[in-house]
Amino acid sequence: MMSNSQKKASQAIEAFDAILGLGSNVGNKIANIDDAIARLAASDDVHINARSQNYRSAPWGVLDQDWFVNSCVLITTKLTPHELLAHCQSVERDMGRVRDHRWGPRVIDVDILTYGTMKIDDPNLVVPHPLIAQRGFVLVPLRDVAPNFHMNGKSISQMIDAMDVTDVVPISE
Ligand code: AMP
Repeated sequence: MMSNSQKKASQAIEAFDAILGLGSNVGNKIANIDDAIARLAASDDVHINARSQNYRSAPWGVLDQDWFVNSCVLITTKLTPHELLAHCQSVERDMGRVRDHRWGPRVIDVDILTYGTMKIDDPNLVVPHPLIAQRGFVLVPLRDVAPNFHMNGKSISQMIDAMDVTDVVPISE
């Protein structure tokens, strides 16, 4: 039987798989994605396991803005979901992201798409990210790092097949 302090110690070192979605549509977009991934990995508590291709995608929501580069990373992390959110937001801030209007141009956007199998729904954090199933620019890179991903009883390929993703195009480097 574990004592409380032993339980705490084992909880403290537990690591979870999480998937982050990244997007940029200002400046050198591919360099911004690379920079954000390097900054995310600079934490001792974040290890990058896999990275998707980069995709060029059409703007969503606010259409009168430049095209985006989108990418996904599969990480292992010892940060809690809220610590991970704070880390993602500090990377956004340090890279000079200005939160002016919703869905507007951004140097970098980092979203938590999944965190283990956890479901979280609080004012600051919703996981799995509610927009996963609606947006091709999230689903297509997500499939690169999590081909077995399922949501609401549908495989990721079924979700992608059910939408028009012709405007999400791999960028050859
Ligand atoms: P955005 O402008 O898309 O970066 O949205 C940022 C806001 O979404 C922040 O206030 C976050 O607290 C909130 N948010 C809720 N769920 C998530 C999530 N899974 N990943 C990132 N931000 C989230």
